[in-house]
Order: sequence, then C-alpha cells, then structure tokens
Amino acid sequence: MTPAQKDISPAITEVKACLECGDPIKGRADKKFCSDQCRVAYNNRLNRDDTNYMRNVNYALRKNRRILIELNATGKTKVSRDKLMRKGFDFSYFTNTYKTKDGAIYYYCYEQGYLPIEKEYYLLVVKQDF
Ligand SMILES: [Zn+2]
Repeated sequence: MTPAQKDISPAITEVKACLECGDPIKGRADKKFCSDQCRVAYNNRLNRDDTNYMRNVNYALRKNRRILIELNATGKTKVSRDKLMRKGFDFSYFTNTYKTKDGAIYYYCYEQGYLPIEKEYYLLVVKQDF
C-alpha cells in the first residue's frame, strides 16, 4: 500500500448496533452499547449464563463422584454400565483422564475413577496420591 492510499478513509462509516437493544450507537467507534444500562444488562445476562453453565457442570461432576463412591465401597469394584446409568451417571462429565503405558484410559471425577474393562463393564478405582 502506498502512503497516498493509506490516507484515504472510507466515505461511509458503518453504523454499529447496540449489542443489547440493537439501537444505533453514537460516539466512539469502539463502543458496543448505546448506554450504560445496556452494557450492564448485557454483562449481567452473560454472567448469569456462564454461572448457570458452570453450576450444571459442577453438579454433574459431583453427582458422578457420589455415584462412584456409593458403588465402590471397597476401593476397587467391577460394575456394569447399566448399573451406573440407572444411578444417573453421566459419562460425558469427568475432571481428567489418565492413560497407562499400554493405552488404557482411566476417567476421573475428582479422585474417583473408572476404567472401561470389557464390553459394558467398568473397573471403579480411587486415586491414592493427590
Ligand atoms: Zn442499547
């Protein structure tokens, strides 16, 4: 780009809409809201959704952990997928995984873990060293 071209600014400036109410925004180009009220309302709503999502995830993780504790009184128990499901276990939530050298993957909900061992069965374990 030559210096001359760089100095040409667009003739029409884009009119931006408020992220909350959709009204046109007057003032600085980097403004996202038409008013402080809209900014506050938008951020409150955003935070509420975040909070709800995190609350749901935390709840699912705690519930999974509770189910694993309940079914694993001895610290090492073989249990069927069906039994876990009936308790309301949700396999889509875990806090971390651990892969052994031979490629087996343990799934953990905090210190409570499970290892898929054979079709529809899991070995429940408890992490010892934190
Ligand atoms: Zn607005």
